[in-house]
Amino acid sequence: MVPDIFHREFVPTPYWWEAYRPIAGDLNDVPSSTRVAIVGGGYAGLSTALELAKHSIDCVVLEANELGFGASTRNGGAVSGGVNIGKNFTGRTTEVEPTRARHILSDASDAFALIDRLIAEERIACFWEISGRFVGAWTRKHFEAQERRLALLNQVAQSGAYMVARDRQRDEIASDYYFGGMVVERSSKLHPALYYKGLLDACRRRGVTICAKAPVTQIRRNNGSWQVSTTRGKANAGDVVIATNGYTGSLTPALRRRVVPIASHIIATEELPQDLARSLIPKGRTLSDTKRVLCYYRVSPDGTRMIFGGRARFTQVDATVSAPVLHRYMSDRFPQLRGFKVTHAWTGNVAFTFDALPHMGERDGLHYCLGCNGSGVAMMTYLGWQTARKIARAANYACSFDTEQFPHHPLYSGDAWFLPFVGTYYRLRDQLDRLLP
Ligand SMILES: Cc1cc2nc3c(=O)[nH]c(=O)nc-3n(C[C@H](O)[C@H](O)[C@H](O)COP(=O)(O)OP(=O)(O)OC[C@H]3O[C@@H](n4cnc5c(N)ncnc54)[C@H](O)[C@@H]3O)c2cc1C
Repeated sequence: MVPDIFHREFVPTPYWWEAYRPIAGDLNDVPSSTRVAIVGGGYAGLSTALELAKHSIDCVVLEANELGFGASTRNGGAVSGGVNIGKNFTGRTTEVEPTRARHILSDASDAFALIDRLIAEERIACFWEISGRFVGAWTRKHFEAQERRLALLNQVAQSGAYMVARDRQRDEIASDYYFGGMVVERSSKLHPALYYKGLLDACRRRGVTICAKAPVTQIRRNNGSWQVSTTRGKANAGDVVIATNGYTGSLTPALRRRVVPIASHIIATEELPQDLARSLIPKGRTLSDTKRVLCYYRVSPDGTRMIFGGRARFTQVDATVSAPVLHRYMSDRFPQLRGFKVTHAWTGNVAFTFDALPHMGERDGLHYCLGCNGSGVAMMTYLGWQTARKIARAANYACSFDTEQFPHHPLYSGDAWFLPFVGTYYRLRDQLDRLLP
């Protein structure tokens, strides 16, 4: 029987939307010409626009839905400086040649520095706090693998990482669920929708034209420029930037075959008694784990609720399906939360790539920045910034994510019908990892 976990005030929308709810607002006309047309108005699209505006380059952001419709107002708000880079959707790190691996980690570290600077410069009030992260080890072997990665993280990404043995774990989490784990001091948390609103405000202050409810339906090369068609008019542009991440669709079939949209789900609990809320994660860190089907969690910015996310299912499902599963995962870690109800449950898409790395690139003025692989708050901000600097010819450094190679799979054309089976398989593998250490 499904336990009654839903609070009487339950809503199937993000908790974050209580502070900023995506809106279309007054609809700006789509301009007939612009220097750069940006498709997608999430962190990546807005960050591109903001940096272009700083270089006095005229641009327009074209967003299919309300402003903030995508993952950028739906995520967990945990920001890492590289600990997740190169991890595929099962949490395993893909093998990369050592010099490139260092370059990649260094870029991920720069992404963290960029978001830290941007929030300060633009005075974005989004509860930004460098609180550190605890990554719980699901098995002893996972703990040992974390230990092996420590030196690289500290040398290249200045992560301030260290191991916490199982007998000290309660310093980090009021639970005995893990085999110890790794603390990464250079990690932070924020309120994702307020960070989004801050980027939006910063773009508006600099006069960027932002068009909500303007889905781009076609992009065509026309006499050396691009003709960008939307349902609300056409724009001619010198350059186009595709920033659609987990919502990449048939507009760009070649990109669609290179990103697999996987759903991620989150619940927020009702307000908890103060002492209990404070005790759960004593140092206020964000948490994740080394399971193949991982969970990520934290306490809300006002310190009253548990915000608990994970891949309860790999596809978009109704909250009546995802919330009970997440509530169970949460109670497995924190039995003391079993009786508390859920006030919000929501979902969004992340974009996984076949090499588990983010990508940016360009052909004939058609740019893209895609593939957050589940960690995109800092990374997609960074890729947008890098793309803008490339267009402005202000980049003085070759970003490691800007390569010719953006792999695809011969059997995948953009229809991810297989995801439910993949989810079931990896949940089983997680169980076997513990049973057969
Ligand atoms: C539930 C969840 C939890 C997450 N947790 C974390 C976390 O804790 N930490 C972290 O770092 N990352 C996390 N992420 C990932 C992070 O949220 C994303 O990487 C990031 O928000 C992606 O930003 P973006 O701008 O690239 O894409 P999005 O914010 O998804 O924006 C893409 C936009 O493109 C628009 N679009 C698509 N097609 C068109 C078109 N044809 N015309 C016009 N517009 C179009 C869509 O409407 C959408 O608004 C999470 C994601 C989810 C879903």
